[in-house]
Amino acid sequence: MDRFEPNLRIPGPTALPPSVREAGARQMINHRGPEFAAMLERILTGMKPFFGTTSDVAMLSCAGSGGLEAAVVNTLSPGDRVLGVSIGSFGDRFAKIAGVYGADVTKIDVEWGQAADPTVVREALLANPGYKAVLLTHNETSTGVKNPIPVLAEAVRDVEPDTLLLVDSVSGLGAVPFEMDAWGVDLVVTGSQKAWMAAPGLAMIAASPRTWEAMASATMPRFYLDLRAHRDAAVNGQTPFTPAIAVVYQVDEGLRLMNAEGAASIFARHEACAAASRAGLQALGFELFADERFASRTVTAVKLPEGHDWKTFNGAIKRHGVVLAGGQGKLSGKIFRLGHLGSVTVEEVIGVIAVLETVALEQGRRVTPGAAVGAAFAAAADALGLGQGAGTSGAGVPA
Ligand SMILES: *Cc1c(COP(=O)(O)O)cnc(C)c1O
Repeated sequence: MDRFEPNLRIPGPTALPPSVREAGARQMINHRGPEFAAMLERILTGMKPFFGTTSDVAMLSCAGSGGLEAAVVNTLSPGDRVLGVSIGSFGDRFAKIAGVYGADVTKIDVEWGQAADPTVVREALLANPGYKAVLLTHNETSTGVKNPIPVLAEAVRDVEPDTLLLVDSVSGLGAVPFEMDAWGVDLVVTGSQKAWMAAPGLAMIAASPRTWEAMASATMPRFYLDLRAHRDAAVNGQTPFTPAIAVVYQVDEGLRLMNAEGAASIFARHEACAAASRAGLQALGFELFADERFASRTVTAVKLPEGHDWKTFNGAIKRHGVVLAGGQGKLSGKIFRLGHLGSVTVEEVIGVIAVLETVALEQGRRVTPGAAVGAAFAAAADALGLGQGAGTSGAGVPA
């Protein structure tokens, strides 16, 4: 199948729309000139509605994990007590970064596949008052779970109004609603290669006014990651150091496409793609890894049945040109993941399900050709409110 490019369906980096790819190929410009300044302004302002904030956003050239590191070193001091609420491998990473820089980290390790329980978070805060920060993952890419941030934030705010709430939304923001100001979240990190339809290389970080203030007294060491330097430079349309200009072009173009589509339609599209993925995979006989009440809208994880070797199975999928993700860390060989974020349509998800049906038939498994494809399409149509059964699921799921 090498006539076609691989159909990249992993939860980041995501496939790029043609105009975004072309944007990345443009000639370099002076990053101290007016053209760059205008572009930076468009990005920092254009992202605010997706963060749900009126506060300042900073853009750093680094991986999403660099953004998490910036979240930690700018807000904390060595010895600060931090509650790391982990629901998977990225939650573990966030907590680990805090520990590396000398924070006194207490972890809540939620069973993988589950979301964090607001009652458990509340009790942890009551049992041990005085945490400086709580670390949360919005969308845990390793398990396909979306945490209910509004209720978790409410639990934190109720018990500890002064504790900073830092959220990793690297794989959620831009694809699902987020209301940082309204929910009382203090800092949110996202990354260019997930919902923003651009190459890896940029992390965007929004912080609440009191978080920007807290950076003055936080004493963890920082130089490149000093968010205040990035904010100060942005006032003059610049970055403190040379930015990843090609990726900046791409994020600018990606945002232009997103604004043309409109946030409501982007969110509905992701919800429909997620519904199609879940229904199609289940119709093929796979069991969802995530508790369905908290299923992610950007990545779906399913269990590999006993005796299903991931390498062999994945080899067969790849021969049809589809690239899926295996499990991370302790889930390696136990699950696989279908990414549906950024530039993705229901039709593309259905195409992946069709390939999985083909592989199942090739392997002599008992499936009815078209059944999973039909189930995927029906679920998407339902989520989008099309045709029979409109509105019976999906559309009413709270953020
Ligand atoms: C992808 C991802 C990250 C890390 O991004 P990198 O760019 O690989 O460092 C962090 N958190 C979540 C939830 C992610 O999905």
